[in-house]
Amino acid sequence: MTHEKSGPRTLSGWGRTIRRTCEVRRPTFDGGLVDLVTAEPRLTVRGAGKSYGDAALPGSGGPGVVLELTEFDRIVSFDEGNGVVVVEAGALLKDLIDQTLPIGWKLPVVPGTERITVGGAIACDVHGKNHPGAGSFGQHVVWLALLRSDGTIVQLSAGQDPDGFWATIGGMGLTGVILRAAIQLQRVDTGWMIRNRRRTRSLDETLDAMRAAAGRQELDPERYAIAWLDARGSAPGRGIVDEYYGAGTLDLPGAVAPFPETRPPSARYRRSLPGRGVVSNTTIAAASAARWHLSRSANSQLVAMRDALCPLDRADAWPAAFGRGGLVQYQFAVPADEIGTIHEVLSYLGRHGLPPALATLKNLGFGTAGALSFPIPGWTLAVDLPARRLGTLRPLDKLVAGAGGRVYLAKDAVTDPELIPLMYPRLPTWRRTQRRLDPAGRWTSGLAERLGLLS
Ligand SMILES: Cc1cc2nc3c(=O)[nH]c(=O)nc-3n(C[C@H](O)[C@H](O)[C@H](O)COP(=O)(O)OP(=O)(O)OC[C@H]3O[C@@H](n4cnc5c(N)ncnc54)[C@H](O)[C@@H]3O)c2cc1C
Repeated sequence: MTHEKSGPRTLSGWGRTIRRTCEVRRPTFDGGLVDLVTAEPRLTVRGAGKSYGDAALPGSGGPGVVLELTEFDRIVSFDEGNGVVVVEAGALLKDLIDQTLPIGWKLPVVPGTERITVGGAIACDVHGKNHPGAGSFGQHVVWLALLRSDGTIVQLSAGQDPDGFWATIGGMGLTGVILRAAIQLQRVDTGWMIRNRRRTRSLDETLDAMRAAAGRQELDPERYAIAWLDARGSAPGRGIVDEYYGAGTLDLPGAVAPFPETRPPSARYRRSLPGRGVVSNTTIAAASAARWHLSRSANSQLVAMRDALCPLDRADAWPAAFGRGGLVQYQFAVPADEIGTIHEVLSYLGRHGLPPALATLKNLGFGTAGALSFPIPGWTLAVDLPARRLGTLRPLDKLVAGAGGRVYLAKDAVTDPELIPLMYPRLPTWRRTQRRLDPAGRWTSGLAERLGLLS
């Protein structure tokens, strides 16, 4: 066996709340991937490690072996006739976009960061700001190749073992290793977007603006919307609602090239600040108020597509700012008529002295998705909080589950395991397919163990 054995390393997710020391293996296909998979009794698959909690970490029971797919990063083929790209699962969305956007093709779904792998995007079935019209990432996967725990490789698609396909999409790396996938890209005229920005004065006004945006989004997969909420201000829920749509060549001033040259800078790892970092109720209040006051409602602003879709890629230092304890992002979805839950969650956080350092609201729509995929039609609110008071979040799980909602597994570090079957009612069906695809029972993760996903 020639796979690289790089010894013990301490890993965490993007939130830096949960840390595990583990053996990290980075095999190549010819260099022992299948041997490794069939030799190790328990394995955790990891992409770029951008899930917030422990989805890409081993469980707490032992040292654990992590399979990092970073050697699998090639674009295998691209058909410029029909826009289907075949790509290895360890490739970053960023690299795919670097290669295809300048020639007029874009990924139909991009989450808030491009620095994730294709495998991670499929395993978490990620969504973007255009979910009501475009659905989630998995809906644009034409087929995928999965390495199962018995060493066999199967090709899955909506027509070829659909149960296995939809159990792997959103399946949190627990059905096998996604080796490569074919993804349907979409044609674009430019790499620019038009932004219409509205500053709102209350949560009700923010929700009304987002509801109106959802109507437009349902009719058009190219419509993106996101609201930033000042959850701490004198009027909680006032915010900034940004709606984007693709710019055509006629929208560009003469001197502007159709595809911007600028690319997001490369990621840098920043060490966590000592102690509690710089995020406190005082700094949150000041930063939120400044952001709101400095923004103005304005229409028809030209913004580079990548800046519009992935603003946090310019903020490498974000998790480091929360200090040694790290940050938790509590993201949940509730049905469209459960607006009361959004109000209640924000007021609960306010009452308990937990103002979010960042709070964003997006619309979610219909669409076929995996049993463990996160999106349901309605709203999704994501709040970034210092991790030091995790226990305070527990009552929110009941509120969300009671409203027919769910937390996002890719972000989770805190959820009450007893509520998972309520939040994900198709879990028993998923487990049956998971067992079929993982006959040796090898795949595991901190998340799977903590929430009892496999039992
Ligand atoms: C700044 C930021 C913004 C974000 N915004 C959004 C957003 O808008 N929408 C959204 O949906 N998500 C968002 N996310 C979450 C992120 O998109 C997901 O967590 C994504 O899965 C991370 O991909 P990764 O390559 O880092 O995977 P990892 O974090 O390494 O792994 C995530 C899961 O995928 C599994 N996995 C990874 N690779 C494979 C593979 N090859 N085969 C099988 N399983 C695999 C792992 O086992 C794990 O369960 C955001 C994250 C960050 C840090």
